Amino acid sequence: MDRMQQLVELLNRYASEYYEQDNPTVSDAEYDALYDELVSLEHKTGTVLKNSPTRRVGGAPLDKFEQSTHLEKLYSLDKCQSKEELKDWFLKIEKATGSFQPVTAEYKFDGLTLNLLYENGSLVKAATRGNGEVGEVVTEQVKTIKTVPLEIDYKGRVEVQGEGIMRLSRLERYNKTAKVPLKNARNGVAGAIRNLDPKITAKRGLDLFCYNIGFSDFKINSQTDMREFILKEGFCTEGEFKVFYNIGEVFEFIDHVESIRDSLDYLIDGLVFKINDVSIREKLGFTEKFPKWAVAFKFKAEEKTTILKDVVWQVSRTGKLNPLAILDSVDIGGVTVKRATLNNYDDIKRKGVKIGSRVFVRRSNDVIPEITGVAEYHDSDVDILPPSKCPACGGEVVFKGPFAYCTNEDDCAPKFVSQISHFASKDAMDIEGFSEKTAEQLYNDLSLKSIDMLYDLKKEDFLNLDGFKDKKPEKILGEIEKSKHTTLDRFLFAIGIDGIGKKTARDIATKFKSLSNVMNSSAEEFLTVDGIGQILADNIVEFFKTPKNITLIEKLLEKGLKIEESEQKDGVFCGMTIVLTGKLPTLTRGQAEKIIIDNGGNVSSSVSKSTSFVLLGSDAGSKLDKAVKLGIKTVSEDEFLNMVKQ
Ligand code: NAD
Repeated sequence: MDRMQQLVELLNRYASEYYEQDNPTVSDAEYDALYDELVSLEHKTGTVLKNSPTRRVGGAPLDKFEQSTHLEKLYSLDKCQSKEELKDWFLKIEKATGSFQPVTAEYKFDGLTLNLLYENGSLVKAATRGNGEVGEVVTEQVKTIKTVPLEIDYKGRVEVQGEGIMRLSRLERYNKTAKVPLKNARNGVAGAIRNLDPKITAKRGLDLFCYNIGFSDFKINSQTDMREFILKEGFCTEGEFKVFYNIGEVFEFIDHVESIRDSLDYLIDGLVFKINDVSIREKLGFTEKFPKWAVAFKFKAEEKTTILKDVVWQVSRTGKLNPLAILDSVDIGGVTVKRATLNNYDDIKRKGVKIGSRVFVRRSNDVIPEITGVAEYHDSDVDILPPSKCPACGGEVVFKGPFAYCTNEDDCAPKFVSQISHFASKDAMDIEGFSEKTAEQLYNDLSLKSIDMLYDLKKEDFLNLDGFKDKKPEKILGEIEKSKHTTLDRFLFAIGIDGIGKKTARDIATKFKSLSNVMNSSAEEFLTVDGIGQILADNIVEFFKTPKNITLIEKLLEKGLKIEESEQKDGVFCGMTIVLTGKLPTLTRGQAEKIIIDNGGNVSSSVSKSTSFVLLGSDAGSKLDKAVKLGIKTVSEDEFLNMVKQ
């Protein structure tokens, strides 16, 4: 009982911070774990305390807003976290209804629930879910969301419900310049809508993804009917909508969506399964908190909180000192996370993180874990100071914008080791068998301190190096020799110009054709390449003006490096600029890009008037919206592959 009382108090505090103040201090996964503990104690004891959160939907509507009683109550959702639990849920339904009931599957969008009331074809009110019965009136704020129709064809009375969403690309753009960055997209949307000034809402560029009808004065027979109404009336929807007739298909769909989750431009925290047939729903009914005919399958958490123990500054190949957060290890979605990135000193200051603070850490599949904000401070927390010396070599540090750099060009070990391993890497000079360890050995044991010295190495040099037995020295020397024949794009990537990735190197090579053209071009000329802005253009020009870099290039050429000049390839996409968006049914992004380049086309990351067409996959986001706005043609994967075949 004591523990139950304790849990109820704690959960109610967290719920108030989350629903009412839009300022959570624990992650959803931590909240859910405590909530599950309470549910299991309630089952065990057969007692549910009066103020238990298991009896309530959401949080109280705030007084600062006008309040509105929804025509139909909005509920929370029952949830399960494994396929076994989901299977049990289906069996329960089968037992209650006599057979397997077809279910619809939708993404569970992680945003702020909104209820829109239309009367006589006009949007008359928008409200938050609040406590499920009474919400906060946020009509003016919601009207700033461009995808919300102010007028619809249907002239009766209907409540359309959906999730206010801040797209991740929007969040990233917002956080780049925000005084205090948003902790996550859910917070971004909740803070923007539950705000008395609609101008603030407008600035965040929100969306509303609709998925449900509450009250309606016409008969609805199924979820499929609701979806049709929503689409027909021009509401924005996203994600896949499916109907399933057996559990095997449901499980396959779960695996599929989990695998594409990280490629979406918005947060989802699971899938929602709903019995499609409304007459069956009526038989099953509701608990105090959720419908018995729907269930949320929750994906693994991507966010947790933990203590920031320290920050160390790591030297990169460009000399940039990157702050690396050392964390109290924490399990995020089954992976132990001990370190996370903090981007730069400016980011540390804006997020207000300190050593000792409890911080939010986000990790998704292919992204380095990142600290997104502070959950809780303590009096003993200590400010993080900018680096005054390079931690590796003691060299002077300069700041360029928010970034700190080590200025030691001659003997900063980690800087040189990562430069040379980058030079040798697969997408650069492609020296097979050359690892970071090889780079360290060459630096430490052979005093190799300039990249061109790679081409002076002889078999004898390797004799005393650890791990270089038998044929290995010959093999690596053969690979080094082979790398002397390279292409312009690989070379531009290999020499490590700050900010030049594979794609930009390729675009520069395609446009400028030869190394001497690249070395003699102006910032204005570089600005005409897709994805190059002023800072990067200046960086490139400065790189090729720096005597040390010129000497290195001259030495490499003297030692026999041959750089193939780029020729525009002929092909069906010759002269075209193509943008990819969404997930393609069979091709990976890399494969599609290769087909475009091999057939003479250019790949661009953003849609503009000069885009030839957009290669469109499922779950496309803002690029598709922009293409529609500008009247740019979209092409499916099938059509694209047919163009290549012709
Ligand atoms: P929920 O978010 O788990 O699920 C119900 C909600 O999902 C619905 O109300 C609806 O708004 C939304 N939803 C999204 N897509 C949907 C779709 N396609 N169909 C139907 N509904 C869809 O439940 P809840 O009651 O809103 O909130 C509970 C959750 O909120 C917790 O599990 C926790 O993750 C989080 N929470 C966190 C804290 C915290 O401090 N971090 C505090 C309280 C609650």
